[in-house]
Amino acid sequence: MAGIACDVTARTDAEAALRRSLERDELRVVYQPIMHLATGAVVGVEALVRWAHPERGLILAVEFLPLAEETGLILPIGRWVRGEACRQVRAWQERYHTEHQLRLSTNLSVGEFHQADLVAHLTTTLGESGFSPERLTLEITESAMMATDPEVSVSALFALKWLGVQLALDDFGKEYASLSAFKRFPVDQLKVDRSFVAGLGRIPEDTAIVRAVVDVARALGLTVVAEGVETAEHVAQLRELGCEEGQGYFFAPPLVPEELEAFLRV
Ligand code: C2E
Ligand code: MG
Ligand code: MG
Repeated sequence: MAGIACDVTARTDAEAALRRSLERDELRVVYQPIMHLATGAVVGVEALVRWAHPERGLILAVEFLPLAEETGLILPIGRWVRGEACRQVRAWQERYHTEHQLRLSTNLSVGEFHQADLVAHLTTTLGESGFSPERLTLEITESAMMATDPEVSVSALFALKWLGVQLALDDFGKEYASLSAFKRFPVDQLKVDRSFVAGLGRIPEDTAIVRAVVDVARALGLTVVAEGVETAEHVAQLRELGCEEGQGYFFAPPLVPEELEAFLRV
């Protein structure tokens, strides 16, 4: 019993601390560059949240997002992340990328995707930051799209498309890899899950899967981004398969704004 009480107490404390993190300005956004594989140019960044905990140091998204999702705190956190990222990337667009404006990708979890006033919030965020909707990509996992009636998801996705933003299917292949998702959902981009990229050039099945996904996506006019690009061999294989874009530790891990600026300058 003591254990359960302890767990409940710990959970309540963690929830209270997470709630306070917003007021106390403890959340941070880090940015991972997305590269054009043929030219090595930075085409965009993915915004990823971190919690700069006063005692525990920097906490990764995977460690606190499940609690945020369960408690509904993901809604204010997600809005804050998008507001901050739009403001920051808009400033970089003005400073560094006059010709090819930097794109911004942000993640929408299942709770955020299905919130009733998502479109209204996004409209406000875009308006306040002056960010062009066509430069913003919202990443949604296939499992989040499948979490409710697919028809409900399709309507929600069309409402987002109406705003002028781009939509990406995140972690593609990790759970469903349903080909009908391509047909059913109005998405523009597909992100190949890093579990397949890891086996490129080593595991024939993974190479065959990435080839098939890239071919289908290209035939349907979707851009393909490979996740978890960690080696020069991955880059070579992806280029050969015709995958246009990639992100991963080979190029850069998620970076704090100052580091990302240094990356853009080189
Ligand atoms: P994701 O959207 O698939 O993001 C990519 C994750 O892979 C990031 O983990 C990133 O740090 C990690 N990664 C990048 N390159 C490599 C690599 O070369 N190798 C390996 N092994 N990993 C790499 P992170 O930041 O811990 O985020 C985990 C997940 O949490 C994200 O997966 C996304 O689903 C979610 N997430 C992160 N930030 C946010 C946010 O602001 N809002 C929402 N709703 N979800 C977020
Ligand atoms: Mg993502
Ligand atoms: Mg992903």
